[in-house]
Amino acid sequence: MVGTETAAGSAGLKRPQRKGAGIGGEFIVSAARSQQFPPENEGLGSVGGCPVEVAFLGRSNVGKSSLLNALVRQPGLAFTSSRPGCTQLINFYRIQDDLRFVDLPGYGYAHVPLEERARWKNLIESYLLDRQNLTLSFLLIDARRGWMDMDLELKSWLEFHNRRYQVIVTKVDKLKSNNQLKAGLAVIGKEIPDRQLVPFSAIDGRGVREIWQIISTNKTQQ
Ligand code: GDP
Repeated sequence: MVGTETAAGSAGLKRPQRKGAGIGGEFIVSAARSQQFPPENEGLGSVGGCPVEVAFLGRSNVGKSSLLNALVRQPGLAFTSSRPGCTQLINFYRIQDDLRFVDLPGYGYAHVPLEERARWKNLIESYLLDRQNLTLSFLLIDARRGWMDMDLELKSWLEFHNRRYQVIVTKVDKLKSNNQLKAGLAVIGKEIPDRQLVPFSAIDGRGVREIWQIISTNKTQQ
């Protein structure tokens, strides 16, 4: 149901905010189950008349919400937190009539019980596998931490299932010198030798233009 919140309220999360200055976006819904996903065919998009969805994937605290907010230039749209693991829902945002951003729950938080981790995995996989509107996933990797086991698992999973993805290296402002940055990107790039990385910083805005370019190109390819 568009414009309503389901599981977010019960999880006690701060309600994502509505449209403000900048490019802007609008929170649609938080889903804890696939039945709560918004209808695929609402809007004016290019996937058989449906809006294109771009998913944001990564471990907890990698900077997904910050990236989403930076892209729409709306600081409070997605919920950001220094408490990793607190977003356990799939959040849908309407960005344009033909474009949605979909913030998937972060993974890899050590203190989450196994049962809960399995639930996240099922939720993420049901979205990534079955969603017709999904045309591109951004896989976020922290510039200073590089690939974690679960990132590599997810990358292999996306490749196995033939899902299009783009790696974004987050928090590059934390690599202070050019040499540090080059070395960090080289280590991350080793895992994906045939692909371009996009370095991104929510602090100085590096990468925002390139990421929008990728989104536009992806839309025109549908
Ligand atoms: P999420 O859990 O993946 O959604 O991560 P958040 O966007 O909530 O960010 C986690 C923490 O990292 C927060 O304290 C952010 O302020 C911080 N952070 C996110 N992006 C950046 C960045 O580009 N540079 C720096 N220095 N910190 C960032």
